[in-house]
Parts: sequence; C-alpha cells; structure tokens
Amino acid sequence: MQRLLMLMIACSFSFSFLMAQQNRITSLISQQATAVESKVIEWRRYIHQNPELGNREVNTMAYIAKHLQNLGLEVKTGVAKTGVVALLKGGKPGPVIALRADIDALPVKERVDIPFKSVVTADYLGQNVPVMHACGHDTHIAILMGTAEVLSKMKNEVPGTVKFIFQPSEEGPPGDEEGGAPLMIKEGVMENPKVDAILGLHISSGLEVGKVTYKPGAFMASSDWFTIKVRGKQTHGSSPWTGIDPIIVGTQIVNNLQTIVSRQEDLTKAPVVITVAKFHSGVRSNIIPEEAVLEGTIRTLDSKMQKGVHEKIRHVAKKIGESWGAQVEVEIETKTLVTYNDPALVSLLIPSLVSAAGKENVSESRWTTGAEDFSFFGEKAPAFFFNLGGMPKGQDVSKVAPHHTPDFYIDDSMLDVGVKAFCQMVFDYSKK
Ligand SMILES: [Zn+2]
Ligand SMILES: [Zn+2]
Repeated sequence: MQRLLMLMIACSFSFSFLMAQQNRITSLISQQATAVESKVIEWRRYIHQNPELGNREVNTMAYIAKHLQNLGLEVKTGVAKTGVVALLKGGKPGPVIALRADIDALPVKERVDIPFKSVVTADYLGQNVPVMHACGHDTHIAILMGTAEVLSKMKNEVPGTVKFIFQPSEEGPPGDEEGGAPLMIKEGVMENPKVDAILGLHISSGLEVGKVTYKPGAFMASSDWFTIKVRGKQTHGSSPWTGIDPIIVGTQIVNNLQTIVSRQEDLTKAPVVITVAKFHSGVRSNIIPEEAVLEGTIRTLDSKMQKGVHEKIRHVAKKIGESWGAQVEVEIETKTLVTYNDPALVSLLIPSLVSAAGKENVSESRWTTGAEDFSFFGEKAPAFFFNLGGMPKGQDVSKVAPHHTPDFYIDDSMLDVGVKAFCQMVFDYSKK
C-alpha cells in the first residue's frame, strides 16, 4: 500500500514536472516568435517585391541561404536547381523532422496597390511576363526563415534534428524541365539524415487571418493532365458522309467524360472532377478537319479512384472513337498525388496548432480539389499539411480574390501563428 502511494506521488510529481517543462517551452517559443515577428514581415515584403518564377529562384535562394548561414546552420544550396536545405542539430536526442516551404512565384501581373507591390517581369518560355507571388509562397518562405531563427535560439532545447526544406517550382517547372518536390526527392532530400516526418503549410486568401484549418487523411486532390487526340478523316464541309468528323467524336468524348463522374464513380466516398479545358480543331468553315485535340485535368481524393478514373477515361475515349472509325490516343500525366495527412501524426499535432493559434481559431476543413506537390513527400514519410489564414478580418469571403489572380492579397499581420505552429510541432512530435 505504502509502495503504491509512493509510486502515485512519484508519478504525479513527474507528470507535473513534464507539464511545467512543456509550458516553459511553449512560452519560450511564444517569446521568441514575438521577437522575430517584425523581421518575418520585413522578409515577406522583400520577397514579395522581388518574386522569381519556378526553377529561376536564384536571388531568393541566396537570400534564404544567407539568413540560414548567419544562424549557424549547415546549409546546402542548388538542391533541385534553386532549392535550399538546412540542418539544425538540436541539443537533445530525438527524431528528424522536416519543415517545407515552397518558394516560387507565378506569371501574374499584380494589381493590388501596396507599397511592396511587384513590378518584376521575367522570361517564361520565350515570353516576357509579369511576375507575382500570387499564391503566397512569399509568406511560406518568411515563416520558415522565422522558424529557423526561433529554433536556433532554442537550439539546446531542441529534440533531434530539424531539416528546413525550401523547395523551388511547386507550381510546376517550365516546359520540359524537371523540378519541384519530385526532383528534391530524387536528389535525396528525404535521406541523410532520413526524415521521420514532414510538415508544411499553405497560406489562404479565403481563410481569416490567425485561423488554422486541417484535415486528417486525404486533404488535397491529386492532379493529372490529360491529352486526347482524335484522328478522323478530312473532307469537304458540304459532304460529311465522305469523311470521319473528329469534332463530333470529340464532343461525344467531352460529354461522356462527365458521365464518368456522375454515373460511374462512388461520390459518397470522395469527389472527382474531370475538366476539359482546351478543344482545338479545324481551320475553315467549309473543311471538316482531320484532327481534334482535347486537353484537361482530373482531380481525385483517393488514389484508387485516381487509377480507376484513368482507366475509364481511356476506355470511354477509345470506344467512342472505335464506334466512329476514328483513331483515339489518350495521354495522362500525373502532376501531383493526393496530399494525404497521416491521421496519427495529425492527432499528435492538433495540440500544437491549438497552442499556436488558440482553440477557437483551429478547425477541421473540408476536402479541397486544389493540388500540392507536397504530396510527393508524403510518399516517403508521414506528412501533415495544413492551412493558415491570410484574409483580412471582417472581409466577405465571397469577395476575396482567389490564389493565382492579379488581386490576390494576404494580410501578413499574423504570420507568427505559422512560426509558433512549426516550432511547437517540432517539440510535440518528439513526444511520440
Ligand atoms: Zn498556387
Ligand atoms: Zn501554392
């Protein structure tokens, strides 16, 4: 009995010691994040004003690397062309956790009137285009630079190793170039030291500033691009019975692709989107052309459904072609996988989000049919990707400019929530 009592006292003592230790870490993170906050905003605005397109982030790479070197981290540049990878070895034993920020901008002309507006132009596939951080990756860079600074200041307390991954070309590399997450993985970013878990976030122009949303399991869609070539038989527009009209065949394919979604997929399991975004054919009103080319995108939130939809698209397009005596070729290229949040990792780290943003600001989100190449990292280690709000308080969400548009705007007054979340997650993950 006495021994049991002693044991209970010992347990409650070590529990309260652990709690006190955790509270101390949380308040240290909070202090350090507040101390770095104004710099995070300054970095974000500098990067916003100096955006660079995917695989061309040369100055961005140098800017990030200089900061990380000043913090005394082991820094590697030129990873996957213009990426930066840095290691922070903590003072305590523990796992290897990777934090990822994407760093590329887009060919969009900024229309928002802010002092740090971008007026940059650059070459994109032989064309001079305006460049803008129209997806908010500038905030991701600044948050991760801030996280690196806070964790470096707390280095002796940090359990294990933190790998900071600044990834180029998330939006997809130009032309036939390799790039983005797949190239980083190919160059070994998830090895040496082997990453045990990887975390990332995306700012959102449609979520109020300071709020955080997450979803366990499938979160963002896979994205495939497809091309369907229909080859008929060219003839005079006045006598269609002497040819095979690829426009008629093509339109039947377009209509039937939508019935894959509405009649063949179990939509109670997960949503599917098939969009035909291009349909090119013909040159003149009185010529039935030889060929029609259709291009579009497929979005799924389940990798089995993704494969199934591919097969059905091939089948439908080929069979419609056959019934007309036309030749049909289908090409499908996978751009990203389903972004899958490891459920155990998510439940372990929800308290970190709550500690960073406050309970009332953390909620579960719905699926999104947008896609992320972060999904490729999730194939190599348990992953967690969440959303951070950047919409000014009180703004009507229905009037917000979407990502990738000229009026896209991010309120950067609460980027410290992202810094706190990443830092807290590094500590909470080690309790696994
Ligand atoms: Zn984007
Ligand atoms: Zn993005």
